[in-house]
Formats: sequence, C-alpha cells, structure tokens
Amino acid sequence: MSKDICRMGHPVLRKRAEVVDISEINTEDFEQLIREMKEAMAQHGGIGIAAPQIGISKQVALIDLPESNRYGEKVSLPLTIFINPKINVLTPLEQGFWEGCLSVPGLRGYVERPREVEVEYLDENGQNKKIKAEGFLATVLQHELDHLFGVLYVDRIKDMTKLVFQEEYEQFFLR
Ligand code: ZN
Repeated sequence: MSKDICRMGHPVLRKRAEVVDISEINTEDFEQLIREMKEAMAQHGGIGIAAPQIGISKQVALIDLPESNRYGEKVSLPLTIFINPKINVLTPLEQGFWEGCLSVPGLRGYVERPREVEVEYLDENGQNKKIKAEGFLATVLQHELDHLFGVLYVDRIKDMTKLVFQEEYEQFFLR
C-alpha cells in the first residue's frame, strides 16, 4: 500500500524542504523513502514526484518521463533521482505548457516558465551530477524542484482563466 499524496492545503507543501545530509544517502531509511516515492508516483500515474508530496520535508525529487506520456510531448528522461538540486535559468525566454500535479488533482493550468535550465544535484549514490534541459523537460524539472521550496504550479499561473478542470481542458483547450 503506497503512501497518500498530500494535497494543496497541506502545510508540508508550503515549506522549504530540508537539505539531505550526504551521510543519509544509502541508509535504509533513505532507500525506503525512494521506494515510497516510486510507488506513490506509479500508483497515481505521475511523471514526477517530490518528497514533500508524500509528507517528507526533504530535498528529494524523482522524474520518470517515458517517451509516450500523457502530456504527448516528445521528450523523455529515464528515472532520475534529484537530491539537493540547484537550478540555474539559462535563458529568460519563456514557454508555456499545461501542467498538472498529483497534489492538485483534477486540475490543469497553463504555466509559462524559462525554456532552458541547468540543474546541479546529487544522485542516489551521492555523486555530483548536472543536467541541462529545454522544452517540456525544462518545465517538468522546474515544477518538481518548486515542490522542494514550497511552490506549487498554481502560484505561477499568470492568467487564471487558464486554471481549469481536466475534463474542460480536454473539451475546450486540448490542441
Ligand atoms: Zn506537482
């Protein structure tokens, strides 16, 4: 049985998550956390999840973006674990995508974000890693990492007429 997802309104989603101490990585507790995040993400059909979404205020996020995803975007990323990530925006140019979130079930919102970012992070072995992303993957990264700093995608919607229910999204907005 996987853990419940914390929904918008739960205070844990609005806190800055704690930095993970390098000595925690590879402990049984940490591996358990990763397992629970994977299970919750799989059960709820997400492409990413952050530890605060299962009630754990730590700077850990997972992204698993298969080539065929429900967002219909032609980008992919094999399951990647981001610990203590730092994001650098590489261009001020923005792009918009319709986002959804396991913590905001049933809704979609159109969010504009920088189109190219670089993320430095530790992987599950405590190794320093860096990833550059553009397009939809850049948006997914920013969405997940926002969760580690108390930010939800709804905070970043500029035009609130573009915060809609999933069914109405499909009926009126789907390209
Ligand atoms: Zn989310």
